[in-house]
Amino acid sequence: MDTRESEARVLKVVPEKRTHAYLVLDETIFHPKGGGQPSDRGVIRSHDYEVTVKKAIHYEGVVVHWVKLNRGAPVEGDAVCVLDWPYRHLIMRRHTAAHLLDHCLAQALGTRVQTTDSWLDEPCYVGYAGAVPSEEALRRTETLANLMITKGAAVNIRFLSAEQARELLQNAPNYERLPDLSEIRTVTIEGCQPIPCGGTHVRNLADLEGVSVGNAERLSTDSFRLHFSVSASASSS
Ligand SMILES: [Zn+2]
Repeated sequence: MDTRESEARVLKVVPEKRTHAYLVLDETIFHPKGGGQPSDRGVIRSHDYEVTVKKAIHYEGVVVHWVKLNRGAPVEGDAVCVLDWPYRHLIMRRHTAAHLLDHCLAQALGTRVQTTDSWLDEPCYVGYAGAVPSEEALRRTETLANLMITKGAAVNIRFLSAEQARELLQNAPNYERLPDLSEIRTVTIEGCQPIPCGGTHVRNLADLEGVSVGNAERLSTDSFRLHFSVSASASSS
């Protein structure tokens, strides 16, 4: 999940006009858009060409890369894939922060929270069911989150069977949106409830450095978006 560069084989090229193309690879490090996480960006190149990956999209079980031609034209065969790592790392930090905020908001409110959606590009937010929390609850959420970041905690990925998932994930903030799969990928911040998620995260909370809780935007009588940001990273490693 934190491979920045890899070799791959281009299996199929479908040109789009003279400036763009769709590529399918034998395997890819580009995470497609999904689950609130925007698509990775980066480049794919060989001796004879270089293309910019504008978007990776899940299409009928395959990841399709929509690319812009920079040099030459892509062809089937061996290539090198390079992620836009600073952008991916920011998304990983925001994604981990979103899960941390689920936990801290539940603590601050003293009740289970239920997420409705999230978006980790701009604007960056997590959507929740329920009334807008008080300013005091939001500040407590932020304080709790930053305490946990200062202490640090491992972030672990684990796969559960559908049966285990039903048992262990009942309090997960996105339990209502659990996918109907035989194997469920979960992310657990040490000390917090496991959360089903297929996205990319950092390996330790310490990498977040800090989180700021912005405004809670009321969407309707029973839902709101919690806007947040993570500290500018001192390093992108
Ligand atoms: Zn996640």
